[in-house]
Amino acid sequence: MFLITIEILIEVRSVPGWPYDVQFNAIDTRAVMCINHSLISGTISHSLRAQKTGIHSMTFVVTEACIKCKLTDCVEVCPVDCFHEGPNILVIDPDECIDCTLCEPECPVEAIYSEDEVPAGQEQYLELNAELCQDWPVITEMKDPPEDADEWRDVKDKLQYLER
Ligand code: SF4
Ligand code: SF4
Repeated sequence: MFLITIEILIEVRSVPGWPYDVQFNAIDTRAVMCINHSLISGTISHSLRAQKTGIHSMTFVVTEACIKCKLTDCVEVCPVDCFHEGPNILVIDPDECIDCTLCEPECPVEAIYSEDEVPAGQEQYLELNAELCQDWPVITEMKDPPEDADEWRDVKDKLQYLER
């Protein structure tokens, strides 16, 4: 399985005009494994097609459920360190996300979605992730959640509580 993944990476990088050569050179073993994982689910083929044609790849998005929960399970699986930490939510930098899908199942409150699967009514989180990641620091290691995180798990309409 590992050899198959490497063959695909070489093939993609050999496409004339492929603009992400440097990015893939920088990917470590963990990232290769995540691409392998995505191939199984069929997701990466879409991502690679999009990048080959010069269209921005898909990004994942942190949505409302993260507000005041911020359990940080997601950050340690991201191979390209694209989570940024705010006072009471994390966001994903859409310019860094490689659409590997690894973070989505890690979130205990199901706050993370692919940009084309963001729940109805939460579309504004696409813009919020892109905006807030500009000012907030990168987070790569888990930390203790807020003491009252459990109380906020099932609360709806939490956008009003988002702190910047
Ligand atoms: S795991 Fe989910 S709730 Fe926890 S920080 Fe990540 S997105 Fe937020
Ligand atoms: S899908 Fe998640 S884990 Fe993968 S690069 Fe994007 S934010 Fe990081």
